[in-house]
Amino acid sequence: MRNFSLRSIFAFVLFVSLLCLALAPPLKAQSTTASVDWHALESEAVQDLSAYVRVNTTNPPGNEIRAAQWYANIFQKEGIPYQIAESAPGRGNIVARLKGNGSEPALILLNHMDVVPVSRAFWSVDPFAGLIRDGYLWGRGSLDMKSLGIVQLLTFLELHRLNVPLRRDIIFIGTADEEAGGNFGAGWVVKDRPQWIAGAGFMLTEGAGSLADDSGKPIYFGVGPTEKTPAWLKLTATGRAGHGSVPIPDSAPNRLLAALTRLRQYRPPLELTPPVETMLRTRAPYEPEPWRSRFANPKAFLAQPDAYSELEKRPGILARLTNTISITGLSGSNKVNIIPPEASAELDCRLLPGWTIERWEAEVRRIIDDPSIRIDVILNFPPATSSTNTPLFASIQKAVHDRYSSAGVVQTVDAGFTDSHFFRDKGIVSYGFEPFAVTNADDERVHGDNERIPIQSYKDGLQLYWDIVYDFARAK
Ligand SMILES: [Zn+2]
Repeated sequence: MRNFSLRSIFAFVLFVSLLCLALAPPLKAQSTTASVDWHALESEAVQDLSAYVRVNTTNPPGNEIRAAQWYANIFQKEGIPYQIAESAPGRGNIVARLKGNGSEPALILLNHMDVVPVSRAFWSVDPFAGLIRDGYLWGRGSLDMKSLGIVQLLTFLELHRLNVPLRRDIIFIGTADEEAGGNFGAGWVVKDRPQWIAGAGFMLTEGAGSLADDSGKPIYFGVGPTEKTPAWLKLTATGRAGHGSVPIPDSAPNRLLAALTRLRQYRPPLELTPPVETMLRTRAPYEPEPWRSRFANPKAFLAQPDAYSELEKRPGILARLTNTISITGLSGSNKVNIIPPEASAELDCRLLPGWTIERWEAEVRRIIDDPSIRIDVILNFPPATSSTNTPLFASIQKAVHDRYSSAGVVQTVDAGFTDSHFFRDKGIVSYGFEPFAVTNADDERVHGDNERIPIQSYKDGLQLYWDIVYDFARAK
């Protein structure tokens, strides 16, 4: 050990203190949040997420009852009443409610407790260990969406612990089965447990996504008032069966393949719907050129002859400007020398806001040009959009603006879908909103290998979420 003089130690301590001040994130202290012990709440959040990732709720089969019981233990310790209900054996759902003075409609904090399966061989850590390494918390669900579940939980608990007077009820709901369509989760709750959502006017859940630059600094926070709707179709061709040694030109497989070829060659026209126009315009400031100018004036861009080929370089954007078709499932004979009497294909189509299933079915029928092929709808729900002219949207904008002077709020249209539609159908204003700004590289690991959340984004997101809910719900 080297010897230091008192003076040099003092100078060093002063230097470190100044350095800490200089490096502190530019978070504005808020008098309204002064009573939250952030240091304690953040470490509770990290510990809880690590423990929650260890509760394996891979869907299928789900086993979300384990997660519901995990939440229940916490509610029990905090003295908060809750209810658990199973939509089917093992498919648990949980609710807890903080009472407000009833002067405004309730806010639902909705999170799905299931996660998608993992391919363990491609992970560099155990996906169900909740490991903390290299500034990340690793594991299946760490982004989608156990992290947001814990942030909703701690926001809810902290309102209770601090005894904050509320002007609206806050309803915490953890559901099963989102990753498989939500019929055993949010869809079931809305239908079979209407008392759980009684009095609700607003709902927040996953979706939209928020972007950070490579240093982790937030660029924008997304709010999703609408999303594309699934039109999952099954096409079935039937025909004469026979021996594979004597070909049948118009066999079921041949006619199905001809129909699929037409679908594959079909280039869906570009269509600028109002929510997507808003999305592009609000995202424009955060895009590099030439996309900044294109997004700022999407009508002019789409009128250019090279618009389609340019958009093919941005498939995520193109998918928001067209209906899409992915051929995903094929089946025919299970024996190589039998020409089967039936062949079928499954299509994952996603429709732009405003498109009905009837209109889309007619379009597919026109493209395949073969009336003998049967079309069945596997999954669809009606398109619905929530207004952004609401006090909840205003609270999100205010909180983002107060914490981050340089980051904005972008209205997005999700290319996929979440549980939001079940609530929009009931007239509840529902937004996808994720308070964690992450890089594209981090975001791309959702449903993939080595899913992980940057711990700093997670902690910052906890504070941002609290600001929003507190502002939106506290009694004035
Ligand atoms: Zn999810």
